Amino acid sequence: MPEPHLYKITPSDPAAHLYEVSVTVTRPDPTGQVFEFPAWIPGSYLIRDLARHVVAVRAEADGDKVGLTKTDKSSWQADPCEAPLTMVAEIYAFDLSVRGAYLDTVHGFFDGACVCPTVVGQASNECRLEIAPPPPTVGGDWRVATSMRQLDAEAYEFGTYVADDYAELIDHPVEMGDIHFGEFDVAGIPHAIAIFGEMHIDMARICHDLSRLCEQQIAFLGKPANLDRYLFLLSVKENGYGGLEHRWSSSLMCSRKDLPRRGDTKVSDDYRKFLGLCSHEYFHLWNVKRMKPERFTPYDLAAETNTGLLWVFEGITSYYDDLFLVRSGLITPKSFLELLAQTITRVERTRGRHRQSVEESSFDAWTRFYKQDAGSGNFIISYYTKGSLIALALDLTIRKESGGRFSLDDVMKECWSQYGETGKGMPERGLESIARSVTGLELVDFFDRFVRGTGELPLHGLLKAVGIDTRMRQATNGKDLGGKPASDDRKAAPWLGAALTKREGMSLFARVHADSPAENAGIAIGDEAVALDGLRLSAENIDSRLRAHHEGDSVTLTVFRDHNLMRHRVVLAAAPEDTCYLLADDEADATLVAERNRWLNQS
Ligand SMILES: [Zn+2]
Repeated sequence: MPEPHLYKITPSDPAAHLYEVSVTVTRPDPTGQVFEFPAWIPGSYLIRDLARHVVAVRAEADGDKVGLTKTDKSSWQADPCEAPLTMVAEIYAFDLSVRGAYLDTVHGFFDGACVCPTVVGQASNECRLEIAPPPPTVGGDWRVATSMRQLDAEAYEFGTYVADDYAELIDHPVEMGDIHFGEFDVAGIPHAIAIFGEMHIDMARICHDLSRLCEQQIAFLGKPANLDRYLFLLSVKENGYGGLEHRWSSSLMCSRKDLPRRGDTKVSDDYRKFLGLCSHEYFHLWNVKRMKPERFTPYDLAAETNTGLLWVFEGITSYYDDLFLVRSGLITPKSFLELLAQTITRVERTRGRHRQSVEESSFDAWTRFYKQDAGSGNFIISYYTKGSLIALALDLTIRKESGGRFSLDDVMKECWSQYGETGKGMPERGLESIARSVTGLELVDFFDRFVRGTGELPLHGLLKAVGIDTRMRQATNGKDLGGKPASDDRKAAPWLGAALTKREGMSLFARVHADSPAENAGIAIGDEAVALDGLRLSAENIDSRLRAHHEGDSVTLTVFRDHNLMRHRVVLAAAPEDTCYLLADDEADATLVAERNRWLNQS
């Protein structure tokens, strides 16, 4: 039995945002032990070079200093030594995100990949992590929230925790500070939510709603063999949103307004968004944390790992996250159709869908989706949104073509049994071959056109087959997300195809759509708006300025580009019908309504 590695993390200087992290190796590599920080964090496909936050390192053995040489951007090698070797790193932690490390005098958070180096060559050894309290001078009642197994720590307290290996060590994010806990059971598995940053909330309602949601999901793919606990780790900010999945927990961030107060009974749009986030990360505990692309088994955290399958793991998860809200009865079918129509609207407004397939979007996530600039929307498509619509189209195609005998649910169950329960990793064409073998349908054309190609999804017809009418309309203003009929009956403003944003008192063009009047006239991202037909133009008044004109009008748009005044002739066009809402047709044929009810789990 190899000796466990002993890690210790101390919030040593909260005011300076510094953690001290040490790792003691009982049997270091006799040729010189290497310690390496990951370059990226599983679930977030961007090279982050986490070692860049290391501000000091040293090593010691048996009380003596051991030489340490930096060998590349992420690694240090100790001089050969025999006695147990300890490497100590000081780490600057000021990244308040779900995938970072943060520390101040009020609380701390870390994703293990940001603070714990791997002991190269011994990554499969057990890892123990002692989480030490901050210096007494910071005051307050700090507690600890993590899904890591307790070794000698009491529940929610400082002490020593344990993980089977390095991969597990960095799969348990940790929050410390004044945390509020809620607990509930799902299928006999203890679940908890740990909330930092807000206490005036209806914890009982949150626990009740999450337990219904989790129950539905566990009933769907079944309880993973090693799922013996689960923790939602939530940080609440005035404005924030995000999540990162883990095997036994998820690290979440939301805004104060997203959480229900005692006495609230409605599901507000904000609370629905929060429940959707929890649903998304929980679904990942199957789809990407246990069942994952073959190319991620195991993860190579030193370099990019390209796979064309991210749309399966993020897109299908994005499809099921909202679907489980309606299937568990937390939202109504009408509310679900509103969310679906908003996703259709987002994709419809992204011209990049004609340029990039979801397979390419997945493969290039590292250098394109995660490195977007203001013009990216014209050239790339999100494997989340388009991926979720492909999942919808695949589900409805299977239901329709098989006469209701099969659905995407059956495909996912088979994928789970072949790649999830076995830990085998999904080959690049794994989903496609399982979809064909489970349903007996010829789906090559579907995958060629919509996954490997940029074909437009036949959603209108597919939704019609479950008694849902699709309506497209023009956007009423810049804040119109779709999902509902037009909020006012005025005709839409003529279309410029560019959006302004306010920065340092200036109104700057933040987006210019491909093939729009603005692009055709030569307006560029970053141009400062000055006037439209001689009248001052700004982010605040662009809608009313445009409304003074008609489609087909030729207008003069004046801008500053790098301090040069430029005049452009722009021919305004009709606004595109890119905004969707969906209507359930209850007069539809009974078999269509029955299939819709089966799909949404309505009786
Ligand atoms: Zn996700």
